[in-house]
Amino acid sequence: MNGHPTREEDFDLYALGALEGDDKQAIESHLASCADCARKLAEARGRVAMISFAATRVEPAPHVKELLLARVRAEGRSSAPAGAAAPREADSSAGGGVFGRWWTAVLAPVGVALAIATILLWNQNERLNREIADLHAALITQQKNLEEARHAADLLAARDTIVVPLAPMPGMPNGMGRVTYNSKMGMLMYDGKVDPAPANKSYQLWLVPMKGDPINAGVFNPATDEISHWMMKMPEGITPKAFAVTLEPAGGMPHPTGPKVLAGATS
Ligand SMILES: [Zn+2]
Repeated sequence: MNGHPTREEDFDLYALGALEGDDKQAIESHLASCADCARKLAEARGRVAMISFAATRVEPAPHVKELLLARVRAEGRSSAPAGAAAPREADSSAGGGVFGRWWTAVLAPVGVALAIATILLWNQNERLNREIADLHAALITQQKNLEEARHAADLLAARDTIVVPLAPMPGMPNGMGRVTYNSKMGMLMYDGKVDPAPANKSYQLWLVPMKGDPINAGVFNPATDEISHWMMKMPEGITPKAFAVTLEPAGGMPHPTGPKVLAGATS
């Protein structure tokens, strides 16, 4: 077939697996080279899936049932040997018999095709949904990383950014840290490595301003040999006197309550 299928319902019938013989071959050979019709088939497949999903039945297309039935009847008439005592003829003479027989013969394979199509589409949907969710999560992570990298680059490039090394305090868990801070940007970056905190305790970094109370700059619980790193937005325009890591109850505190573990003055 060079031209498009002339009957719109052919797409539904094909999607249902109800097209056979020449009709099926013709549409298949045409679909291979016609994007327009391939799209129509995709839509028909969607309708076929909808039939199974919909709580309220959705008709595949107007009159498809009637057309399917009419065709099946026509085919039955033409293929039944004339005058033969074939069961079809016998059924035909019995009135509603042909209806019942053909619906059974056609609907059984259509039902199977429908079930298979539904399962395939459902699986495909599930897989696509998972892939989309994975890609979305990856994108969010990348965007966050990119954003942080931009902030870090800005912070490191700024001329008024200060770097304050934090040294371990005697008798405290061993470690060292570094605070990179820009007062105007209100941006703080911490990098450090310290032995794990005792049970039920957390480490907490503080910005100790020239004036006023220490400001929380992050709570952390490093595993053994783990390097801690984070960036934190701080209030802008605060001049620090020092930075310190204290040992606090797990989860941190609004104000420092525990001993200093690491500390470093700005000058
Ligand atoms: Zn076409």
